[in-house]
Amino acid sequence: MLQVDALRGVVALDGPSGTGKSTVARRLAADLGARYLDTGAMYRAAALGVLRAGVDPADAGAVLATVEGLDIHIGTDPGAPTVTLDGADVARAIRDAPVTSAVSPVSAVTEVRALLVAQQRRIIDDAAGIVVEGRDIGTVVAPDAPLKVFLTASPAQRAQRRAIQDGVQDLAGVRRSVERRDRLDSTRTASPLRPAADAVELDTTELDATEVLAALHELVAQRGLLVVAPGMSAQRGRP
Ligand code: C5P
Repeated sequence: MLQVDALRGVVALDGPSGTGKSTVARRLAADLGARYLDTGAMYRAAALGVLRAGVDPADAGAVLATVEGLDIHIGTDPGAPTVTLDGADVARAIRDAPVTSAVSPVSAVTEVRALLVAQQRRIIDDAAGIVVEGRDIGTVVAPDAPLKVFLTASPAQRAQRRAIQDGVQDLAGVRRSVERRDRLDSTRTASPLRPAADAVELDTTELDATEVLAALHELVAQRGLLVVAPGMSAQRGRP
């Protein structure tokens, strides 16, 4: 029977916006028969729920009351990740500009983070192998992850990647938005964006996605996180 290398354990992938986390996290998970968790999508869904409820994202109390009533569900198949809010697909809506503006203040509310982190840990616990991307995975969500990688890149490069990913023409505007979110995410009191003490830092400014992916594969192998599993076309690596 065909044998493949499958991931066992958690790979924590953190870093600011536009470092290429999503692309490489999905590809790594798909290559290694693992699950994929985009925690940013969960905060975005929460921010969308807040906006739809007509609540001011800066009003922490009202934000928490709203988020407590939301049903956010995230699918972890790296081939087809999904995100629903109160049962409806919001994969596209969570990438809209108003959500991108609202997500940092919403995610800065400590109790909102506690709700979503608990959900993230349940998903991680249920997976045999999982690649998790976000801002606080190595520091807070999965501090025992056997591999933590913190991706960085120059602000200009990050703005360019984000503009392409979101299909936006106004590069200067995207750069301002990226830098604003970096500032808010890094300076908040609750789980600020920073590398874990034991994270491997990888500057992706001069690297394309394939090169970053190759570096991640090497780290996964070095850490001994691969097991040989029967090759399957769907649900690879799942018991
Ligand atoms: O990764 P993405 O850019 O989609 O994340 C959107 C926002 O969600 C970030 O700017 C940050 O405010 C928040 N976030 C967070 N913690 C995470 C993931 C995302 O606070 N683990």
